Amino acid sequence: MEEEDFHGKRLELARESLDGLSVGDALGEAWAYQFYRARDLTDFSVFRDGSVRYTDDTAMALSIVKILEQYRAIEEDLLAVSFATRYAWDPMRGYGKMAHKILQEIGAGADWREVSPAAFGMGSFGNGAAMRVAPLGAYFADEIERIPGEATKSARITHAHPEGIAGAVAVALCAGVATAFRGRPKAEAVEEMWTTVTELTPGSTVREDLCRARELKNASTGEVARELGNGSDISAQDTVPFCVWNACQCLDDYEEAILSTVEVGGDCDTNGAIVGGMVAAFAGREAIPAEWLRVREKLR
Ligand SMILES: [Mg+2]
Repeated sequence: MEEEDFHGKRLELARESLDGLSVGDALGEAWAYQFYRARDLTDFSVFRDGSVRYTDDTAMALSIVKILEQYRAIEEDLLAVSFATRYAWDPMRGYGKMAHKILQEIGAGADWREVSPAAFGMGSFGNGAAMRVAPLGAYFADEIERIPGEATKSARITHAHPEGIAGAVAVALCAGVATAFRGRPKAEAVEEMWTTVTELTPGSTVREDLCRARELKNASTGEVARELGNGSDISAQDTVPFCVWNACQCLDDYEEAILSTVEVGGDCDTNGAIVGGMVAAFAGREAIPAEWLRVREKLR
């Protein structure tokens, strides 16, 4: 394949994951205050096109996809500027308190290499690096071995703590394998996702809990969320293992993946973004209900 075709194909896969991420983010946020009855609230017929706003998860993922489009790899300094520029353009997207501080400082000219490790005195282990990274995994699906390095670069600009980075590496690896296994049986994809994510995620609580999650095959969604966390403390450790588990459960069913994710509460928009980005990486854009895509705010 010509170099340009190759890049174009990778970008298209990244954008399909981005659609899954952004719809999960926007609807997860819309349902957040009535998460327990999300299934009763799926009639969007009165909603105008594009009227359900996406949040910081999607805003930051848009920056990652833009950098991949332009440079075919993560250029950290440019990604840092892109995050800060998008933030300044529209800061009311549900960014966390620390994200406001970090992005304002980078926007004012500070070096992310100083700002990011200083967050909380040890670098952030929030779920914010994991929430935006699935499209990066989809982009590098034909080169899985590059994913840990590229995901780490995308993460440490704002999340310097090893747990924050591990969360991003795990989600990107899952999205990469899911993309690589498109068109193959779900069970094969799921097996490969678990093997890859437990082997290649750096040593961390995130990785330990992914290993535990893999053994919880017969548990209910609620039981797993209670055991591993549902993102209610907004850390990578409390968010990523459950999201990977539920994406594996529902890898060929986008609608069920998002509804069952939102139903357990916690960080609904971010959980929706992480699961949506991974499931769309496998099932494709056509798996996203057309009505959900219609009401999601247009990406820009
Ligand atoms: Mg958000």
